[in-house]
Formats: sequence, structure tokens, C-alpha cells
Amino acid sequence: MYKKTIKKKIIKFFFPALLHTQAHLLFKFAYSGMGSILMFHRICPEENRPRIQGNSGLEVTPEYLEKLIQFFINKNYEFISLDDVHKQLREGNTRKKFLAFTFDDGYADNYEHAYPILKKYSIPSTIYVSTNYPERKLAPWWCTLERLLLENDSLKFDLEKKSHEFQSRTFQEKEEAFRNIRHLLMAARGEDPASRIKEFFSFFNINPEHLAEELMLSWEQIIELSKDPLIDIGAHTINHFPLNKLSKEEIKHEVLESQKQIESKIQRKVSHFSYPFGSKDEVNEREFAIIKECGFKTSTTTRWGNIFPDHVNHLECLPRIHVNEKRDSDVRLLSLSVNGTIPCVMNKFKRVITT
Ligand SMILES: [Zn+2]
Repeated sequence: MYKKTIKKKIIKFFFPALLHTQAHLLFKFAYSGMGSILMFHRICPEENRPRIQGNSGLEVTPEYLEKLIQFFINKNYEFISLDDVHKQLREGNTRKKFLAFTFDDGYADNYEHAYPILKKYSIPSTIYVSTNYPERKLAPWWCTLERLLLENDSLKFDLEKKSHEFQSRTFQEKEEAFRNIRHLLMAARGEDPASRIKEFFSFFNINPEHLAEELMLSWEQIIELSKDPLIDIGAHTINHFPLNKLSKEEIKHEVLESQKQIESKIQRKVSHFSYPFGSKDEVNEREFAIIKECGFKTSTTTRWGNIFPDHVNHLECLPRIHVNEKRDSDVRLLSLSVNGTIPCVMNKFKRVITT
């Protein structure tokens, strides 16, 4: 916890100072690699209401997305698809530094707010979809939980025969309750996360169907997006479970069935995969080995890092750069990640992030 606070402080104060002194350019030669895969989630206009921090960090405004694109166009970056990242890794990159855009989960705002901008600037992008969202069987629990906490002064529920109560009157209590309930829902290896999440929401009057309809892409939108050669649809499992909680058979089912389902809907091959919850806490060697057997061209984690030629041997665990408007409110701060300064410090001077 203490380590995390120090890291946060470094990001908040030290890195912006580096940007102003231009000292960060010293890292560029050794740590920027061939380019970066950028990770987005939601693209939505700024809302004037309280938010839970963990969720609001996943959102970028359309204005920010456009500024980011213009910034890197001016920096002479090449915008390429994941197919081309794969190709450059296989054949060697003799060209400019690249950026590849990826969007996780399959939010409806990707269609409404991101797609027009991506089209305007011809930015190839991959949208990873968890299939039970367009099936309307599931809504992201982190969105549902945020709503519950913002609307209630306390949450009382039973989980696996234990009673829990969380106060959520003040904003601080809501943030704390979010972290604790998240931990409860994600904890315990070997237990069925689906039933745990279902049990939790059964205490509240929540209709996942309605929420999914409001928040997530429909199959019609996914099919329309997939017809544009700029947009590639990738797999992100059926239910968005953390893979370390599943058996090998369950992982294969979650991954391969979602791939098959998307392929049958869009009539195109699905060649790219992103781990739902791709941090060190949720996916490691065991999960990477299983995903390697699934035969995707690339699979991306949420590890922080750039892409280097050696990643050709680690296509099942490519790191990304998380685009966070709350953290990097000035788009120029993103240079510190794509230039390699932040990944170098975070990864203790290691360039190729595989574990
Ligand atoms: Zn996800």
C-alpha cells in the first residue's frame, strides 16, 4: 500500500516536472521501443456528477481523444492496426514509431463518441468485446456497483452465508466501500465468480439487461463497426471474469466460445484478444500459456510498457499504455509513457514486460 502511494506521488509530481525540463527525452532512445499499444475503455463527454475514482479513470472525453491524436500526428507517429503490430514484430520495423489504439469491454460510447473521431483521422483501432454484454445477459459490475453506492447511504447484503454492511453516506465512504466490495467480489480462488457477483446483485433491484442496453454496444453496432476496415473486433471472453479464478477448461471455454460467437456475428476472423483484468494480480504464466494455445495473433495485458522487437516471442502478453485523462490531463504528459520514462521506472529498467 505504501509502495503504491509513493508510485502515485511520483506520477503526480515528479513526472510532470521531468516533462518541463525535457529530461524525459533521455529515456526515449532505450525505452520507447518500436511503439506503443494504447488502452482505452470509455469515451464519453464530461459529466457534472460525483464519480467513483476507479471508474472515472477509465473514461476519456472525445475532446481529449482528438487532442491526443493531433498531438501524436504532429510528433510524426504512425497509427497502425494490431494486425500490423503483429506484422512489424514478425518482419521487423524499419519505419516510424507506431501507436495502436485498443478499446476494452465494448462500451456503446465507443460507437457514439470514439468512432466518428477515429474515422475523421483514419485511426485503425481494435475494440475488444465481452460477448455477454451485447447478449444483454450481463453489465459491467463496476458500473453497477458505482451506481448503487452513489444512490444509497449504505449497502447491506449477504455473500456466501456472511452478512456485510457498508456505509456510503460520504464520498470517502463510497470510495472505500467500492474498494472493499470489489475485493469481496474478486476474492477467493477456485470459487465461481459468476455466482458470487449474481448473489451480490440479487440483493438489489438491478436489471443487468437494462444497464447493458444503456452502456454496452449492441450486436448491430458491432457488426456495423466491423464492416469498416479501420475497426477490428477482438475477443475479451464471454463474462469478463478474472482468468486466475478459472480452471484451464473454463478459460478455454470463455475465450474460444467468445471468439467463435463474434466471428459468426461479424463474419470476420477474430485474431486478437485482451485479458479481462490483465494486471499481475489476475494473469500470469499459467494464463499466458493457456492463451498462447488459443492461437491469437496478439493478446494484450494491462501491464504498463512499450513494444520491443523481443516481444515477437511474447505475443500472448503484450503490454499497453493506459490512457488516463484524470492522470494526464495535459495530453503532453502521455509522452512520458510512450517515450518510456514511466514504464522504465515502473518496470525497474526492464524493457520487455512478460511477467
Ligand atoms: Zn475489460
